[in-house]
Amino acid sequence: MGQYGKQTIDELDIQAVLQTLTSSNLTQGEQVPLFESAICQYTKANYAVATSSATAALHISCLALGLSKSDIGWTVPLTFAASANAIRYCGADVDFVDIEMSTGCISVTKLAEKLKRANESNTLPKLLIVVHYAGISCDMNSIFELCRQYNVKIIEDASHAIGAKYKNKPVGNCQYSDICVFSFHPVKIITTGEGGMITTNSQSLAQQARLLACHGISKPSTNTQPSWFYEQHELGYNYRMSDIHAALGNSQLNKLDEFVSVRNQMATLYQKAFAELPIETLTVPHDCYSAWHIFVVRLTDSAKLNREDLYKTLVDSNIGCQVHYIPVHTHPYYQNLGFKWGDCPNAEKFYQHCLTIPLYPSMDNQQKIIEKLTSIL
Ligand SMILES: *Cc1c(COP(=O)(O)O)cnc(C)c1O
Repeated sequence: MGQYGKQTIDELDIQAVLQTLTSSNLTQGEQVPLFESAICQYTKANYAVATSSATAALHISCLALGLSKSDIGWTVPLTFAASANAIRYCGADVDFVDIEMSTGCISVTKLAEKLKRANESNTLPKLLIVVHYAGISCDMNSIFELCRQYNVKIIEDASHAIGAKYKNKPVGNCQYSDICVFSFHPVKIITTGEGGMITTNSQSLAQQARLLACHGISKPSTNTQPSWFYEQHELGYNYRMSDIHAALGNSQLNKLDEFVSVRNQMATLYQKAFAELPIETLTVPHDCYSAWHIFVVRLTDSAKLNREDLYKTLVDSNIGCQVHYIPVHTHPYYQNLGFKWGDCPNAEKFYQHCLTIPLYPSMDNQQKIIEKLTSIL
């Protein structure tokens, strides 16, 4: 079956992994610190902490910001479940802010209203996790101003958005957030197999995240102890990235700008080809450069067929498609917590009409996909 997204691996990637495999350190060697500093250099953030996945990174980001049982964390419904699950891992309550239809990102208007109400009822969240949907940065400047008024911390779930820009600066520089998180799952823009990364400008948050990703164990900074000595300070996790994964990441990072550039060219081609069809595509705001992790089409009311029919027709022609996303609050787990259909009307409407069609640098059937869609619609 076709795929909607896929990694691009070349000979240099393979050589990088092989070299690490035959080196003395498969984990806790030099590749992870190299990858972290390369990410700092790329994003211009002061600190980076590599993790075993973005999910792990989101979890320890919430913990590092002090999220616990008596707290509330907010995120958006149009995302992968992990954005909300990270809040639940800390025992905190979760709530959802609806999205903007044109970008799929958090609605700043809805956020402002919800913060005002929460302030009045004394139910403000400790933190907000925003998601740069499909690779488009949220309106971070406005979000930052709003959250600062109410003392709400900000985590950017940039799983879709490495290589993207906001106001001409790289997503991940944390100018408008406390922490940013990237994913290196193979379907994302660059891959380490499995893997994630935290970026931040706060030394204390970086230290806390690093501690939590490594069992809560650290070596004392004084040298009065023997070299075998270590201490556990917190109940941490084993969320480290291995050097095999980081070696692939280092090699992939060299190609990031090229991948994102090709994704932009392909997205532009799709947008031009679909201009006359009864579908809507995402609008990239003028101050954003999208990483185009996914290409999402939404059927309008004048379309002859519904999303299910479109999905079936495309998959029957071996064109891989997916739906991003089933609104998180409608999953049985979240319904059991009291959420229901109707809570986030925009995300629900978006979901009912959306379909992700293939977009990745190594695909060779874009023209065929365009022709197929044009003939069906
Ligand atoms: C992929 C993804 C995640 C999880 O990433 P992993 O690295 O697979 O844990 C989290 N949030 C969003 C928005 C994602 O797309």
